[in-house]
Amino acid sequence: MSRAWIGLGSNLGRREMYLHTALQKIAELQDTHIMALSSVYVTEPQGLTEQPHFYNMVVEVETGLTPHGLLDRLSDIECALGRVRTVRYGPRTIDLDLLLYGDEVLSDERLIVPHPRMGERAFVLVPLLEIYPGALDPRTGRAFAEHLHALHTQGVERAENGVQAAVKQHISVRQN
Ligand code: ADP
Ligand code: MG
Repeated sequence: MSRAWIGLGSNLGRREMYLHTALQKIAELQDTHIMALSSVYVTEPQGLTEQPHFYNMVVEVETGLTPHGLLDRLSDIECALGRVRTVRYGPRTIDLDLLLYGDEVLSDERLIVPHPRMGERAFVLVPLLEIYPGALDPRTGRAFAEHLHALHTQGVERAENGVQAAVKQHISVRQN
């Protein structure tokens, strides 16, 4: 079994419902258990700024799936939730990114781990560090907390309690 960290993002339609359903589907994956859930954050869109705010969070799983196996299952969940790939960085019902898989470093045409842009994205690092404060970049040995110091975090705010409850209802988290 390995530990992996998955970033979730949604900014189209019923964002709480998309995050909640994605978490349910992740929890149902073969040989996979949810070990930790970050808070949900409301974040300003980057790149194309004329689009709704994102809800972002990070989930830690323990999994017997391989990195590519897990990526394929995450793509299935994106499809099931109606994600249509139109514009890059544009609005999406759900985006599931494999951020970290243990301390593995992988790079091929389908999968790059650690996720190549995570070190520059406060909307990924804030929720990741909430549940994994000691996270290290396996490529450099540098703490992701140090990456975050160099970034602006004002566009990343914890969502209100009603949103936290709607996203996390009935999602069970395993104790270590
Ligand atoms: P982004 O998440 O950067 O907005 P997409 O979700 O549209 O972009 O992903 C585009 C492609 O990125 C996917 O087809 C997938 O194969 C590839 N990819 C490479 N590494 C990863 C990773 N670590 N997590 C998720 N997708 C990845
Ligand atoms: Mg993605």
